[in-house]
Amino acid sequence: MKARIIDGTSIALQVRREVARGVEEFCQKCGRSPGLHVILAGDDPGSAVYVRGKEKAAEEVGMHGKVHRLPADVDPEYLVKLVRELNADPAVDGILVQLPLPGGLPSQSILDAVDPLKDVDGFHPINVGALWSGLPGIVPCTPNGCMRLLREAGAHLVGARALVVGRSHMVGKPMSGLLLNAHATVTIAHSKTENLPDRCRDADILIAAIGRAKMIAGDWIKPGATVIDVGMNRDEHGKLCGDVDFAGAAEVAGAITPVPGGVGPMTIALLLENTLKAAIARESR
Ligand code: NDP
Repeated sequence: MKARIIDGTSIALQVRREVARGVEEFCQKCGRSPGLHVILAGDDPGSAVYVRGKEKAAEEVGMHGKVHRLPADVDPEYLVKLVRELNADPAVDGILVQLPLPGGLPSQSILDAVDPLKDVDGFHPINVGALWSGLPGIVPCTPNGCMRLLREAGAHLVGARALVVGRSHMVGKPMSGLLLNAHATVTIAHSKTENLPDRCRDADILIAAIGRAKMIAGDWIKPGATVIDVGMNRDEHGKLCGDVDFAGAAEVAGAITPVPGGVGPMTIALLLENTLKAAIARESR
């Protein structure tokens, strides 16, 4: 294997330690701990696991909070009312609506109801607009985690050719905005992109956010490229894997994230960081 492994587990631990220190200072200064509230509707087992992970991580860094567990057929008006109550509660700094919401619930209007200052997922249109305008705002956790991994890996971004495969609101689009803000030359690919292998071969920085197991083959990678694999899939044996064929890509890339142990741990760590930043921003208003 040629590539250096970008160890998301240890970098995430470092971020969590930084947040824990920040929380301690915040508690001393403000006489309260930052509060994170999560809304979980329905009984999707994957979402339940993610939410438990977030709850535990928040407790470990000294935050307080609550998970609001609601049935899949919750009245959308009740959900919006709950969000508004949390917006008005001074002890709540961060509100996260666990996605995807069960079918039938109007996800966008529920996300729009979250106070942008408490929108620790960074999905409110005001925070989306801030990112694309290069203004301060709350940045979505997964792409922000990828940027931190790139920085920790020492990736040279200014003028680099960056390819983001995937254009979702949660990952691909904000990722490309962040890379653009960091002065990379950014291309966004998606399911209608022609000749994806050649696009990949041109990329100094390759971000895969597709959701297709091992779709990006080793011979699509430019020698020496930095590869960040956001994908979380199951392979034919039921084993967790990314969107990139890790074994093949690691022979060619300069640096690469594994799955698991790459982007995944960063998402929760950056959620904690966003919550602390939201708390500090609210206290200093
Ligand atoms: P979405 O399904 O919302 O988006 C997938 C994107 O991939 C779309 O833009 C789609 O294009 C594109 N795509 C699909 N097939 C192809 C193809 N054959 N060639 C090129 N592009 C293609 O997924 P998400 O962005 O939410 O998530 C992507 C992956 O990242 C998933 O595996 C998810 O589990 C994982 N993930 C991991 C996180 C973590 O913390 N590690 C957090 C969030 C997501 P089009 O728009 O044209 O349909």
